Amino acid sequence: MIEKASKYLFQNYGRLPYFFEKGEGCYLYDDKGKKYLDMLSGIAVNALGYNHPKLTKAICEQASKIIHISNLFYIKPQIEVAKILSENSFGGKVFFCNSGAESNEALIKLVRRYFYDKKQERYEIITFEGSFHGRTLATVTATAQPKYHEGFYPLVEGFKYAKFNDIDSVKNLITDKTAAILIELVQGEGGVNPANKEFIKELYKLCKENDILFTVDEVQTGIGRTGKLFAYQHFDIQPDIISLAKGLGGGVPIGAIIAKDDIAKSFVPGTHASTFGGNYLSTVAAKVVLEEVLSEGFLDRVQKVGEYLKEALKIFGYPVKGLGLMVGMDLPQSISAKEVMKKTLEKGLIVGTAGENTLRFVPPLIITEKEVDEAVDILKEVLNVN
Ligand SMILES: *Cc1c(COP(=O)(O)O)cnc(C)c1O
Repeated sequence: MIEKASKYLFQNYGRLPYFFEKGEGCYLYDDKGKKYLDMLSGIAVNALGYNHPKLTKAICEQASKIIHISNLFYIKPQIEVAKILSENSFGGKVFFCNSGAESNEALIKLVRRYFYDKKQERYEIITFEGSFHGRTLATVTATAQPKYHEGFYPLVEGFKYAKFNDIDSVKNLITDKTAAILIELVQGEGGVNPANKEFIKELYKLCKENDILFTVDEVQTGIGRTGKLFAYQHFDIQPDIISLAKGLGGGVPIGAIIAKDDIAKSFVPGTHASTFGGNYLSTVAAKVVLEEVLSEGFLDRVQKVGEYLKEALKIFGYPVKGLGLMVGMDLPQSISAKEVMKKTLEKGLIVGTAGENTLRFVPPLIITEKEVDEAVDILKEVLNVN
C-alpha cells in the first residue's frame, strides 16, 4: 500500500506507516489489531472520540434518507445547528461551509464586504506571527509564518502581521485602512500559545476605539476544546465574527462562521456561497456534537481533565501550556517532537506536534483521568523518566 500511495497520491504529507481500521472511544486499532490511545484525535477534530453511539446512529440514519440537497432549499438540521451556535455565543447569524480555511476565507470576505457596504475603503486585516488560518491563498496570506508562503507569491493584498501578545506592535500597524484583527486565542499549529488576558483586553479596547472588527479564529479552539464552548468566553470580550470547523462535525467535514447581525447582512444573495456547506449529513453530525458538548457537566469535565493533564505533564520538568484539552509541552531544542511522536506510536500512544519542539495534546473531549495516566506512563518510557 505504501508503494501504491507513493505512485498514486500527491506526496505533500510526511505520512507515518500506520493503517488504522477502527476506533472506539479514545482508542484506535490498526490493521494488525494493535491498540493505540489517541491524544491527537485527527488534529483536534474527533471531539466525541470514535464510534460515539449517538453520532454514529445519527449519521447512519441521515445517510439512509438524504445526504445532500444544496442550499437552494431549506435544511432543517442546518437551521437547528445555527440556532444552537447563535444562542450559545454572542447571538448573530451563521454561515456554513466545509473546512477551517473556508470558514476563514468567508470571514475575510465578509470583513471586506461589510466595509464596502459602509462605503469605507478599509480592507486591511492584522494577523499575528505564529498564527495558522488555512491553506487557501487568502488564508495562507493571513497565516503569518513565512514557511507557508514560500513559492506562492504574489500573495493576497491587505494583510499585516503583528507580534502575538504585544499590543504596541498592533498599534504600529493600524492605519485608516485597518478593517479587522484576526486572532487565535490559543495558537494551535504555531505551538499551543495562549494569548494573555491583559493583551486581549487592550487589543479589544483598541479595536473598539478604532471601529476595527474583532474576529477570532476558533477553528481549533471552538466547540469545547478549551473547556468553554468557545475560547473567547474565557475573556471579557464579544467578538464580531468567529470561525469554526475542526471539532464541529465530530469528524464529518463542516465549517462555519458566526457574525453579528449587522455584519452578517452584508452577505446578500450572490455574494458568497458553498455547494456542500451545511448539508444534511454534516449538520446532523454537528447537532449531536453540540448537544453532547453542551450537556450537563461536559465542559466542566473538559476543564477538569485538562487541568489534570497539565499537572501530570509537569513531571517531565518542561514548560506546559494551554487551555482545557488543548495542551502543549515544549521540549528542549535537542529533542525533536516528531521523533518522540514516532516512539510513542510504537508503544501505542498517538500524540501530536506543533513546530519542531512542541508536543501537542488535543485528545477527544471525552477522555478520562485514567486514560491521561496511561498516556503519561507511555511518555515516561519514551522520555526516560521514572
Ligand atoms: C486547522 C486550522 C485551520 C485550517 O483548517 P482546515 O480545515 O485544514 O482548512 C485554520 N485555523 C486554525 C486555527 C486551525 O487550527
